[in-house]
Amino acid sequence: MKEHHEPTDRSTDPAADSAPSDSGRRAFMGVAAGVTAAVVAPGVVLHSVTAAPRSEAVTSDVRWGLLIDTAKCVDGCSACVDACDRENGLNLQHKPASASQEHWDDQKAVWIRKVQLQDNQTGRVTNLPLMCQHCEHPPCVDVCPTGASFKRADGIVMVDRHTCIGCRYCMMACPYKARSFIHKAVDEQLTRVPRGKGCVESCNLCVHRRDFGEDSTACVDACREAGHEAIVFGDLKDPESIIRKHLAEMASRQIREDLSLNTGVRYSGI
Ligand code: SF4
Ligand code: SF4
Repeated sequence: MKEHHEPTDRSTDPAADSAPSDSGRRAFMGVAAGVTAAVVAPGVVLHSVTAAPRSEAVTSDVRWGLLIDTAKCVDGCSACVDACDRENGLNLQHKPASASQEHWDDQKAVWIRKVQLQDNQTGRVTNLPLMCQHCEHPPCVDVCPTGASFKRADGIVMVDRHTCIGCRYCMMACPYKARSFIHKAVDEQLTRVPRGKGCVESCNLCVHRRDFGEDSTACVDACREAGHEAIVFGDLKDPESIIRKHLAEMASRQIREDLSLNTGVRYSGI
């Protein structure tokens, strides 16, 4: 697996390397230096690899989004989910010995879910990956009492783990069930995606890749490598971008477009 942009840990507090607390820090996640796997506290291991962040600030000149062609999304395929798990360290979560599999499946953090939609009239079933929709008007941000839920200038909605108090208002407000709560202490994690007990998190469009100048996400790469090419990532504001060209050529919809959230994730074929 290709490793991406793993800022070296700068603190014994995993959260201290994570979420930005001002606009400058929101522009990028850290400074990289070398390959390490460091034990920073009893039982806590952080993995990091070399990368160099960009220096310019995030602007509203771009708006990142995804277009998902449900006609190409294959029943039973989980390539995007598995890649997201690896990219964001979700595969480092471990089921507590005392938990049932059913309970764990319900509790563990998940950033992409494969969802099946059924047309009640025709019985037709459609498969699609569902993640944070990166709403232009995000209810999760509106209800957050601390400002931990925030939208970057480039449209990415994410959580500042410094200020998240785990009240989970955002989880209740999100119409897409896109957010996860970390219930247990975390003993292994990636420095590019730090997580800790009591915080909420969700898809951040591989923000570490954005801030290191890459033009894809882990789910897009994995879907392409699996031969399906069901997901396109890009700048919704750029008429020359692949995603805009696709959107101009094919009908697409927002899920729950009745809510007028102007999502950054669009679906075709539904
Ligand atoms: S999908 Fe949910 S978590 Fe993502 S921006 Fe919209 S309301 Fe917030
Ligand atoms: S759980 Fe965290 S991010 Fe969500 S509303 Fe509460 S403080 Fe904000």
